[in-house]
Amino acid sequence: MTDNNTLRTDETPRDFIREKIAADLNAGLNDRIVTRFPPEPNGYLHIGHAKSICLNFSVAEELGGACNLRFDDTNPAREDESFIRAIQDDLRWLGFNWGARLFYASDNFDQLYEWARTLIGNNLAYVDDLSAEEIRERRGTLTEPGQPSPYRDRTPEESLDLFARMRGGEFDDGAKVLRAKIDMASGNINLRDPVLYRIMRASHPRTGDTWCIYPTYDFAHGQSDAIEHITHSLCTLEFEDHRPLYDWLIENLPVPARPRQYEFSRLNLGYTVLSKRRLIQLVEDDHVTGWDDPRMPTLAGLRRRGVPPEAIRDFINRLGITKSDGLVEMSYFENTIREHLNQTAPRRMGVIDPIKLVIENYPEGKTEELDATNNPTDAHAGMRKIPFSRELWVERDDYMDDAPKKFRRLTIGREVRLRFAYYVICTNVIKDPDGNVTELRCTYDPESRGGDTPDGRKVRGTIHWVSAANAKTAEIRLYDHLFTTEEPGKERDWIEDLNPNSLNVCETCYVEPTLVDAQGVVQFERLGYFFPDADSAPNALVFNRTVSLRDSKSKD
Ligand code: ATP
Ligand code: MG
Repeated sequence: MTDNNTLRTDETPRDFIREKIAADLNAGLNDRIVTRFPPEPNGYLHIGHAKSICLNFSVAEELGGACNLRFDDTNPAREDESFIRAIQDDLRWLGFNWGARLFYASDNFDQLYEWARTLIGNNLAYVDDLSAEEIRERRGTLTEPGQPSPYRDRTPEESLDLFARMRGGEFDDGAKVLRAKIDMASGNINLRDPVLYRIMRASHPRTGDTWCIYPTYDFAHGQSDAIEHITHSLCTLEFEDHRPLYDWLIENLPVPARPRQYEFSRLNLGYTVLSKRRLIQLVEDDHVTGWDDPRMPTLAGLRRRGVPPEAIRDFINRLGITKSDGLVEMSYFENTIREHLNQTAPRRMGVIDPIKLVIENYPEGKTEELDATNNPTDAHAGMRKIPFSRELWVERDDYMDDAPKKFRRLTIGREVRLRFAYYVICTNVIKDPDGNVTELRCTYDPESRGGDTPDGRKVRGTIHWVSAANAKTAEIRLYDHLFTTEEPGKERDWIEDLNPNSLNVCETCYVEPTLVDAQGVVQFERLGYFFPDADSAPNALVFNRTVSLRDSKSKD
């Protein structure tokens, strides 16, 4: 943060929005900037919203200004109190705070109503009896002008009377609307007499049944910005075409301030969807378990999956702010998550697809406590003790019959290192009648404790394990992309691109006993990063795989 409200001249703004704001400040257009993040409470926040959140809150903080949280709650048919709470929880989790600067468009309903009357009084708005359908039919196209409504020339007096009666509940839902009187031939369809108010008998989460008419988003948004003295209204590119309407309204109403709107491109991410309409459908049609399903691109889903908020902020910052639309690769996001977790996640051992390994020359009933490092990239992370005994669980695919030479793991006659423990040689395997391996029989070298031998001989492979007598059983949920294609819906209906294998539940996994009260993300060595699920309990552990260790599926 700078110590005054203007940018120091030696600071180069990071992107074109910051550049424009700096120019506005330097030109003296504002002495303190105020931005806002304006979610509609009709769903949960997703990673696309995080781009807008990071921009609005960060710009304000960098310049010693303020950022408001404003709920654009103008459509009670789709909005809900639970979304209002969830959005605030997610914002705090992401690391942003609005203090007392919490606003609702619905706080302005009285004022907006009065301003609608002002427009009518000035012959700049009229009550229209056409249905939504008829209005759409007469809107025209990009090449053809629209048709004026037969009610367009109503007198202000008549419209004022009808508008009051709309508010009074005299007409059915959809029977009348209030429209701005701008220009039915405008090249910008948003200026062809847009609807400002509609009749809707729906209980509002905050105003209850006080109103049966509600302002449209387009009418409420710019005026709410003005009422809150927003200096910079930063929004996504689809609102560029609405700016002339917002400017027209500001021009024609006695608003207390004049916000400036700048647009930037939305975040699009591969193998997922970021449209709220689609996310709502995924939840309502039970394609996922809820808004916080760890496969969802929602902040609640990412949180439940174990993605640290720092990684999300970092990802957004690295992308930067531009006007060009593009698709960001999911692997880029996942790499950012890995980078963060690599620094912070304690190392542990767990076996997802277990097979028993018995060390024939290790004493029965004996348990040793071995030293294990918690995080090789963090010197402060220290060591822990892990139990070792005669019977272990190891990963089924760490054994192979007749393995090729470059296979560095278990096969009969080959020596491998058990991480933090001993060298073992596989001497024999037990198979069931179908020929499936059910148990590995090994011998160990008691001299190799800790992973070295006095003769210094080398083994090429190291595998992870847990002591069978001490292991905790855990369910591990492996997640894959929610969709099978990078751009769902490009070739066919988007819902058909859902990945039927996006969740793979491994019910009987074994993890080391230190994990019985795991709180944060851990790295299971050689497997990936895992986070205790909200469903997890000490005697019924459940872990979500946040992200695998590497991009490719290869081990070793
Ligand atoms: P949708 O269009 O999917 O229904 P929305 O953008 O209308 O979502 P809002 O709650 O109105 O949802 O969004 C609040 C703010 O977040 C808006 O200013 C919007 O521009 C911004 N936003 C939404 N999605 C993205 C995205 N993918 N990238 C960047 N900003 C976004
Ligand atoms: Mg919106």
